Amino acid sequence: PIVQRATPEIMASTTKPHLVLIPWQGGISHIIPMTDIGILLASHGAAVTIITTPANAPVVQSRVDRAAPPHGGAAPVITVTAIPFPGAEAGLPDGSERLDLLRSPADVPRFFAANKMFGEVVARHCRGASRRPSCVVAGMCHAWALAMARELGVPCYIFHGFGAFALLCIEHLFKHRPHEAVASPDELLGIPALPSFECRVSRRQLPPHFSPSTSMGGGQMQDMREFEAAVDGVVVNTFEELENGSAGILASATGKKVLAVGPVSLSHSPASLDPRTMSGDARRCMTWLDAKASRSVVYVSFGSAGIMPPAQLVQLGMALVSCPWPVLWVIKGADSLPDDVNKWLCENTDDADGVASSKCLVVRGWAPQVAILDHPAVGGFLTHCGWGSTLEAVAAGMPMATWPLFAEQFLNERLIVDVLGVGVSVGVTKPTENILTASKTDGSKAEVVAEVRKEQVMEALERLMDQGAEGEERWRKAQELKLKAKGALEEGGSSYVNLENLVHSFV
Ligand code: UDP
Repeated sequence: PIVQRATPEIMASTTKPHLVLIPWQGGISHIIPMTDIGILLASHGAAVTIITTPANAPVVQSRVDRAAPPHGGAAPVITVTAIPFPGAEAGLPDGSERLDLLRSPADVPRFFAANKMFGEVVARHCRGASRRPSCVVAGMCHAWALAMARELGVPCYIFHGFGAFALLCIEHLFKHRPHEAVASPDELLGIPALPSFECRVSRRQLPPHFSPSTSMGGGQMQDMREFEAAVDGVVVNTFEELENGSAGILASATGKKVLAVGPVSLSHSPASLDPRTMSGDARRCMTWLDAKASRSVVYVSFGSAGIMPPAQLVQLGMALVSCPWPVLWVIKGADSLPDDVNKWLCENTDDADGVASSKCLVVRGWAPQVAILDHPAVGGFLTHCGWGSTLEAVAAGMPMATWPLFAEQFLNERLIVDVLGVGVSVGVTKPTENILTASKTDGSKAEVVAEVRKEQVMEALERLMDQGAEGEERWRKAQELKLKAKGALEEGGSSYVNLENLVHSFV
C-alpha cells in the first residue's frame, strides 16, 4: 500500500511525532483539506491520526488510501479513527454528522450540542490511546480541543479552512468593529487588511461572526473566538507567496504562529486523482472535457453546499445555455428543485449522458474538481469563492469569475479580484441564505428572488473567457501563481519548510 495503515502496535512503537488532526465535521470542505494536511504531515515524517465520525470516515479514508508520498519518500503512517457522533443524545436523527445532512436550521443548535459531547468522547479516547499525541490540530468549531490538549500537555493548533487574508480581515473586524459604525447593511466599510490595500465590503457581506442573527447562536460564536484567541498557532491552507504577505501580518496581528502549508490539494499526485480510473460522474466529466478544445470550457461550481434559490438558478442557466462556450455545470441540491426548474434544466441543457458533442454537461452529484481545473480544455471557473475552490483554482492556474454566496466568500472575492488580479466579479451584493443564516425555527425556503440577471452573468463570462489583452493578462497572472503554488510544496519551498519545521519541532 502507498499509505501504511497504522495499527495500534505501529503507533505505539513508532518514534515519529504523533499529530492528531480532528477536522470540523460541519462540511466536507473542512474534512478534505484537513485530510490533505494529514497526508502532507505524514509525508514529512509524522505519525498522523485523523479523528472523525463514522459517516465522514469513508471520505477521509478514501483520500488517505489514494495518497502517494509527494517526494517519493517512505510510506506515510496515517490512521483514521471513527468515533461515534452523539447526535441521538442531542435529539438528532441517525447520520446527522454534517451540517449539510441536517433536516433544517432548527437542528443546528442540536448539532453544536452533539459536537460538545463528541469532544468529551474524543478526549476520553486520546487519554486512553496507546500513543499520546505530540500535538493536536483541531477544526474551527472544536473549541473543546483546547482543554483536551492542555490536559495532555501538548500544543493545540486551529485550522479554520479560511485563507490568511480573510482571517486577517476577521481579526480586524473583531478588534476594531468598523461594521458597528455603518448605518445600513449595504453601506461599504473599509478593512485596512494589508498595508497597501483596503478591503471594501458591505456589512451584509461579512461572515456570520458579524451577523446579528445566526442559527449557531452567540454562545457558540463566543466559544470559537475564545478558542482561536487561546490556541498556540494557526494552520492555513495557503502559501506564503500568495495573499500578499497576509500570513506574516496575521502572525503579528494575533501574536500566534501562522503556518502556511498549502496548497494542500497538491498533496495528491495527478495520477492518484485521475477520474478516468473512477466511475460515474467523474469519468463522464473527463470524457466530455477530452473532446473539447483547449481553454474553451467554462467550469461552474458553487462548492459542496452552495444551493441557489430556483429563480436565481434559472437566470444563471439562461446565461450558461446561451453563452458561446461549452459549460460544465455542477448543481447541488437538485433533488429539491421545483418541478418547473427541473423541466427547464432538462429542456435546455443537452448533456444527453455527457455525449462528447453536447454543449452543456450538468453534474448533479460530485464532480472531480481538482482534475477538472487541471484539464487543458478548461479556460475559466465560475466559482462561489470558497477558500478550497479558490486555492485549487490558483494551484491550477485558472482565472475565476466570482459569485460569492456566504461565509467569508465576499472577502475572498476581493482578494481574487482586487489583490491577485486573477478574477472578474459577477457583482453580487447580497449573500444567499444557508443553514447557518436561515431563521432558527422555520425550515421555510429562502425568498425566491434572483439578484443577478442573465445579462450580468453573460458580461462576467465574456470578460472571463476573453483572450484579448485583459483576459490574457489575467491568464498570465494565474499561470504565474500556479508555478509559485507548486514551488511552495517542493523541497525547500515555503510550505515544505513550514511542514518540516512543524513536524520536527516535536522530535
Ligand atoms: N468539491 C468537489 N466536487 C464537487 C463539489 C466540491 O470536489 O462537486 C470540492 C472542491 O474541490 C473543494 C471543496 O469540495 O475542495 C469545496 O470547498 P470550498 O472551500 O471551495 O467550498 P464550500 O464547500 O466550503 O462552500
